[in-house]
Amino acid sequence: MDLKDHIRGIPDFPKPGILFYDISTLLAEPDAWQVAMGRMAKIVSRHQPDILAGLDARGFLVAAPLALKLGLGFTMVRKKGKLPGKTIEYSYDLEYGSNTVEIQADAVKPGQRVVILDDLLATGGTLEAAIKLFEQVGANVVGTACMIELTFLNGREKLGDIPFDTLVSYD
Ligand code: IMP
Repeated sequence: MDLKDHIRGIPDFPKPGILFYDISTLLAEPDAWQVAMGRMAKIVSRHQPDILAGLDARGFLVAAPLALKLGLGFTMVRKKGKLPGKTIEYSYDLEYGSNTVEIQADAVKPGQRVVILDDLLATGGTLEAAIKLFEQVGANVVGTACMIELTFLNGREKLGDIPFDTLVSYD
């Protein structure tokens, strides 16, 4: 199955000139969603993780079902101000302004093997921030993956030596 048949590009969202790749159509089609999650499960299993992390918000839709399927724990990386209790935060620059993401300080145990997941890799800033947060609490980030990679933005370069995999790429 070509998953691109189930992903649509919506022009001028959220700003004029941006083509937004939308996975809503894939999620609404159970056969396509099953195939996507099956392929992701193979990628993720290779890293032998203890826990999967999802990035706010569509990353939750990737990481949570995979964690259940693989019998693993799940944890959230959220935009600032959404998580209760003690949290740690990391800020990164956007084209205009900045963004701050957080995890709970006890989200993972030191040494735990974490794989971080999202729907889409663009510039890589969000995934890089998540990697920094998990490393700060002593986790072992063993891999990352997204359903979609926008290769022309070179996001992988921000991830250093940490493996990254994707299901589909757009140049
Ligand atoms: P980055 O930090 O530039 O890599 O942006 C990635 C984040 O922005 C991810 O959390 C994505 O969900 C979101 N994002 C950026 N562009 C798109 C898009 O075209 N479709 C869906 N999400 C996007």
